[in-house]
Amino acid sequence: VKKRVASSATALAQKSSAPLAWSYSRLSIYRECAKKFYYKFIEKLEEPQSPAMARGQEMHELFEHYSRGGAVEFQEAIHTACLPWLEPVRAFKPIIEEGFAFRRDWTPTEYFARDVACRVKMDLFYVLEDAPKKSEHKYVGPFPQAIVIDYKTGKIKPEEHEEQLKLYARAAYAQRQGIKSVHTGVWYVDHEKTPRFMALFKDRTKDVPQLTRYWDGQTKKMLADRTFKATPSSRCSWCPFSYKKGGPCKQAAA
Ligand code: SF4
Repeated sequence: VKKRVASSATALAQKSSAPLAWSYSRLSIYRECAKKFYYKFIEKLEEPQSPAMARGQEMHELFEHYSRGGAVEFQEAIHTACLPWLEPVRAFKPIIEEGFAFRRDWTPTEYFARDVACRVKMDLFYVLEDAPKKSEHKYVGPFPQAIVIDYKTGKIKPEEHEEQLKLYARAAYAQRQGIKSVHTGVWYVDHEKTPRFMALFKDRTKDVPQLTRYWDGQTKKMLADRTFKATPSSRCSWCPFSYKKGGPCKQAAA
């Protein structure tokens, strides 16, 4: 593990200043171990790319290319079960692999603005003004409706991924003031039989305050943390910052 950007002085300055903008991946790592979060996002230590990360990147690039109208030899790369879902989406001219950024009050801002508090990357995002008339798939309103899709490689884990849909919903409501609902889901692109699960947020009036409260609660501890204490666990075996892997953390679980 090599240090890439920040000196320890910079890291300390960052520690004592305003918290970093959060994202779902940052929150997930903070929940695993605050020290891991510190090494990765504050010290910005480099970590080697795992085979799973490389696979995820490859698939996202393929899907991006196809969603933009390009031809891809999907049969070799993914199961064709995804195509009946992905192919019609191209007609809606989705926003692809886009990062959205929000202030603390969820008003949109620039991705690298000084006042950014939360960043959300979406693999596919589009708005349906009404239910498509000619479609094999059933669309449930109310409309206008934002659709947000996340591609996942690897195992099917709805219990782990469902929460993320709440963030897509909150972000979509914030990004498009006129929408009345958000239909968001995960496509498991490595699997043939169960390629997707979806969640419908169908009442903007109720959803927005509920989701705002939810994310305020989930991120409160992380955003207030200035000590980033290690919480050794079985996950230390895979942590690139463990001293066993050449990293700086001597608190790794045995
Ligand atoms: S090795 Fe374990 S305790 Fe140390 S940073 Fe990684 S997860 Fe945290």
